[in-house]
Amino acid sequence: MYSHKKFEFKSDTIDLFLILINGCFMRFKLRFMAFAFTLFTGLTTHLTVSAAADGPWQAGLSRRNITPAQPMPMAGYAGRGATHADGTLTPLWCKALVLKDRDGNEAAIVTLDLIGIDAGLSNAVTQAIQSQLDWKRNQIALCTSHTHTGPVVAKNLRPMHYMLLDEANQKLVDDYATFLEKAIVDSVVEARKNMTDAEVSWGSGRATFATNRRNNKEADVPKLREANMLKGPFDHDVPVLTVSQNGKLTGIVFGYACHSTTLSLNQWSGDYGGYAQQKLEADNAGVQAMFWAGCGGDQNPLPRRTVELAQSYGDRLATAVQKVVDGKLSSVDAKLETKYREIDLKLAHIPDKAELERDQKSSNKYTASRAKALSKVLADGDSIPSTYPYPIQHWRLGNDIQWVFLGGEVTIDYAIRIKSEWSPHADGPPPVWVAGYSNDVMAYIPSRRVLLEGGYEGGGAMVYYGLPSPWSSEVETQIMNAVNVMGNRPAK
Ligand SMILES: [Zn+2]
Repeated sequence: MYSHKKFEFKSDTIDLFLILINGCFMRFKLRFMAFAFTLFTGLTTHLTVSAAADGPWQAGLSRRNITPAQPMPMAGYAGRGATHADGTLTPLWCKALVLKDRDGNEAAIVTLDLIGIDAGLSNAVTQAIQSQLDWKRNQIALCTSHTHTGPVVAKNLRPMHYMLLDEANQKLVDDYATFLEKAIVDSVVEARKNMTDAEVSWGSGRATFATNRRNNKEADVPKLREANMLKGPFDHDVPVLTVSQNGKLTGIVFGYACHSTTLSLNQWSGDYGGYAQQKLEADNAGVQAMFWAGCGGDQNPLPRRTVELAQSYGDRLATAVQKVVDGKLSSVDAKLETKYREIDLKLAHIPDKAELERDQKSSNKYTASRAKALSKVLADGDSIPSTYPYPIQHWRLGNDIQWVFLGGEVTIDYAIRIKSEWSPHADGPPPVWVAGYSNDVMAYIPSRRVLLEGGYEGGGAMVYYGLPSPWSSEVETQIMNAVNVMGNRPAK
């Protein structure tokens, strides 16, 4: 608009010169008045449009490509061993969005196309961000997509990956963790520097490919789906947050509760979430699309295992998001409140020395590798903790959105329970969003139902994370009590 005005000014200057030569003062006066009027109304229109388009939010976006630069071990499936990736299907990204409300409260959400993050790396990252920006821990949410075609991330899933790698491969993993830490910190600091006036809105869509993997046999899923006989529970909501700046869409943050396990091949990819982000960015020029995983601990994208399927789930998710973006969005008032705490989540059983010595001889290499690590704790003169510092984060955006970030591979019951208890009579999907795989992915987080049923998510998977036993039967009560307190809900 300003360059256009400049051009007009120049053309009017030339006109003015001609007018003076011609001595036609009346014409000059009329043209000058018209010019001044155009300039004035143009400026007024510009200012009005700016004020209407941008709310009192400030937002900044930034990203780093975190696809490993050299071949290194992949994470997610024990069967891969130390196999290196041999190509890239979709690049892996670290993407940051920093928001600032009208009172100056700031927070960053970081989405990572990674299997997870362990407490050690998460603490290093958040402490570095806190010291650089003079922030508190509650202002940073680290969300991982749980892709199973990404690299081994530091000590995440330690007995399954890091502990079974040789020194050369461990070094590759250590080097990548150093690179990753810097990439995450830099992207948040840069996003904060990039902040400008913004409008923030939300909406909710739906995608139906997430399937309860405990209650439906994988081979039967196509048949069951066709007969509309798939068993739940599941949660097919697709929460969407949008950021617009200068009247243009710049950010789309969206979630979905489903394991990123369509693919198991040996190439880097963000799985369906990677394809969805790629499509949204291709279809909306200048937009940064960010994917976070919901409570999909017991949900799989079924059927699976082909690139075509990963791409088609990505397309379906992106299409659901696009429909929300193109439809009627609800504006979010520029108010931000962030809370974070760690609760002492109880474990069911702490093994003694004799039990660990027996387990070290186990024919199951993961049981043996976990026992070795726990024995070292005892040998160092420490005791094995009977609880785990479990991270829970709660953000409130505007008057409407309550966003809960839970650590670990959270099963779907938590999302369903929090949504139904907090918005029991909502007309349409409520703006209560529950992310899993956030801040520290230390184990599966079964609901009481899943814990008592047992199986992989109920307790069998604990060995791969190195925790000494399943959670206590109070796991759901402990988490829900804390979540309710943080969301200002009365304890039950
Ligand atoms: Zn998983």
